Amino acid sequence: MSATEAPMSVNAILRELLGSGGVYGSFGICSKAPTFYVESLGSPSAMKRFAAIVCAPLLFGCATSHVVGMTAEGAKIDEITLKQSNVYVIECAQPILIDTGTAADMDDLRIALADLGLRPQQFGLAIVTHAHHDHAGLANELQKAYGVKIMLGAGDVDQAARGEDDPLKPQNATGFFLKPWLVKVFPAVTPDVVVSEPIDLRAYGVSGTVLQMPGHTAGSLVVVLPNHAAFVGDEMLGGYFGGAFFPHHAGEHYYQADAEQNRRNIGALLARGVETFYLGHGGPVQREDVANAFHFPK
Ligand SMILES: [Zn+2]
Repeated sequence: MSATEAPMSVNAILRELLGSGGVYGSFGICSKAPTFYVESLGSPSAMKRFAAIVCAPLLFGCATSHVVGMTAEGAKIDEITLKQSNVYVIECAQPILIDTGTAADMDDLRIALADLGLRPQQFGLAIVTHAHHDHAGLANELQKAYGVKIMLGAGDVDQAARGEDDPLKPQNATGFFLKPWLVKVFPAVTPDVVVSEPIDLRAYGVSGTVLQMPGHTAGSLVVVLPNHAAFVGDEMLGGYFGGAFFPHHAGEHYYQADAEQNRRNIGALLARGVETFYLGHGGPVQREDVANAFHFPK
């Protein structure tokens, strides 16, 4: 599916949500296809209208990319926004991908990488922050079709082998409401590199460390760079509805396997001096906002 075709599938899904009656709109901004849809089909129930408003930003896919930072060595860090989640590219000598999107994101990912002058087979490593469908969805295909090595936390190896999210524990009403609509399955994958102890990324061409920080899932990974930046996956959310609104405002993710441990992880990263947090949804968010959101000293 190309970036310009993506809104069609969103409309199809909204029709499913709304059945034969309803007035709905889906709005998306994309470098290739700014779109606004409104269809008049009758009068929906308030519940269905709410479903459409909540789900549209999560389902919408554009594959936009932009530079969000630099490594200590001066390599660009690009954020690519896919249908449900962000992935990141570290443009070191052999590029590194952080997270892989959903199983349906390959065409969008390929388009976004081409905009950066890159192809999937150029990547030596994909660090999957955790084995949820919207982060590990393309890990199998990248590994099998393009020879990309997959790095995953030891605690997530079993659920990656099953190709299914762990039982999601909602942390708020939005998480509870969204849970039945999530796909939750993805192509099973066996990682090439399993992280239990910290891994030094210099062997892969960039200064940084990969840490296993169980909390969001049993094997969630965080990538910490020496210039006070960290990729934290779903340790927190940026904004609301997948980052569609106020993306630079930090907040609790909809689901946590162990919310208390996850909060301690955030405290540990603040204590480590992290200033910029790159997120799986929305973001980046800055230290002060994270400290405020999770009630830590700044
Ligand atoms: Zn997740």
